[in-house]
Amino acid sequence: MKRFVHDTGSLLAGMPSVMPGENYTTPLNVKEVKDEESRTALARYEAKLKVLEPGQESLRAVKERARELGERLSEADAAVVALALELGAVVLSDDYGVLNVAKSLGLEARSVRTKGITETLRWVNYCPFCRKAYPPNVKECPDCGSVLVRRPASKAPRSRRGKR
Ligand SMILES: [Zn+2]
Repeated sequence: MKRFVHDTGSLLAGMPSVMPGENYTTPLNVKEVKDEESRTALARYEAKLKVLEPGQESLRAVKERARELGERLSEADAAVVALALELGAVVLSDDYGVLNVAKSLGLEARSVRTKGITETLRWVNYCPFCRKAYPPNVKECPDCGSVLVRRPASKAPRSRRGKR
């Protein structure tokens, strides 16, 4: 079964409730979820979320790699990557540093929001005069020669789609 380790941002986005497989986080990240609304949300999917503390050795490995890469990770950030390292889990985070360090340690790392949006937001390329839609690589209307414009086809659904 696939395993996921959520950072604080992923917890706040409610990701443990939509990811299949086993979901983990660390005590430090749970502590970072402070406002009442988010805590209530967290309690709702508590049963789906295992809270584990990573070992010192993996923490050290993560911090060392972060230093090599020049990334500054908080204790909670480092704990997420360290736990994923121990579990062979996918890291879910929107923190560039977390994703970078995780990937450089050979882990699969996915962005929660930023990447999800660019992947799920679809654009329609169309002629403002003829109102016909064309593929994204077409720059000018083949009928009237107007420069095509883009508009979002729909708002990105906040759902379980859009991951690879
Ligand atoms: Zn046209």
